[in-house]
Amino acid sequence: MSLDRFGRDINYLRISLTDKCNLRCVYCMPEDMTFQPREELLQDDEIFRLVDIFAGLGFHKFRLTGGEPTVRANIVNIVKRIANTPGVQTVAMTTNGLMLDRLARPLAEAGLQRVNISIDTLDPNRFKTVTRWGKVQDVWSGIEAAKEAGLEIKLNAVVVRGYNDIQDVVDLAALTLNNPWQVRFIEMMPFGDVADFQRAGVVSQDELMATISESLGFLTPANSGQLDGEARLFNLPGAAGTIGFISSVTQPFCAACSRARLTADGRLRMCLLREMEVNLINPMRAGATDEELTAIIRKAIWFKPWGHGLAEDVIPLNRVMSEIGG
Ligand code: SAM
Ligand code: SF4
Repeated sequence: MSLDRFGRDINYLRISLTDKCNLRCVYCMPEDMTFQPREELLQDDEIFRLVDIFAGLGFHKFRLTGGEPTVRANIVNIVKRIANTPGVQTVAMTTNGLMLDRLARPLAEAGLQRVNISIDTLDPNRFKTVTRWGKVQDVWSGIEAAKEAGLEIKLNAVVVRGYNDIQDVVDLAALTLNNPWQVRFIEMMPFGDVADFQRAGVVSQDELMATISESLGFLTPANSGQLDGEARLFNLPGAAGTIGFISSVTQPFCAACSRARLTADGRLRMCLLREMEVNLINPMRAGATDEELTAIIRKAIWFKPWGHGLAEDVIPLNRVMSEIGG
């Protein structure tokens, strides 16, 4: 078990496999995003070495993200190696779904259990506007493939005022009526160069709940009111699935945070919304032993920040979401 100085058990590592992506969602990165050179990113064997160390420290849940994790070469083998690491109980992935049509089955066979697929609207035109060029039909094919491969599915939607609002939110929420999925609405968070845009477009959980209830009926708390990870869960009347709200901005869940993030360039980031990072790639490339790396990681965990400072206007400016691993 790895405790921080506030007594939180930190056991969940989100690994950004790449900062690159085959989309350019308006809330995530600028259209002319510059990506990092490949040699500056963690190589496969460096990721595996760190996974072994984290698993040895009691981390049992691993999520692969990015950027877009499915554009990383060798992704199926990466999943397989992580899933077969002693101590690892869950391997999940957050993806835009575009490549799942082809990859869902091999990934499931390699040991992937869950996918969170991002889909912000069901409307083809608005999907294209939000992602700058994506086709929503490709995401649907990916969702179908994930279903057929037996993967547990959650859908993630970031709501941006003026891009995808009332009708999109209602359509996405209505998917839970007939599908046993969790559809999660994520409040947009401010990062780096796109922070001003993000702060202007954030739509709060209260507003989303009112919009959904008006069209589809009263939302009843699910999961005995307990958080599911970072999501607060609700059911529509008679629904097969659940609706979740991840409301980092208006209803932070820092007290229950159990996660750490490994950036694609090998930095350990203990809070998504704080700039503090601990460099692992340099000591590793300079010949640090496993014991030395373990000591660096233990110290970083111990000093995990209590929570973010959005309420005090403290915004992380050193990176955008795709570089950290959302
Ligand atoms: N490319 C994959 C995807 O889109 O699912 C994985 C990486 S993406 C950075 C992970 C999640 O972060 C997605 O669900 C995305 O919608 C969300 N995200 C990106 N920028 C965000 C922001 N500014 N605020 C809140 N969520 C954001
Ligand atoms: Fe790419 Fe995901 Fe960011 Fe969209 S949210 S640009 S799909 S990394």
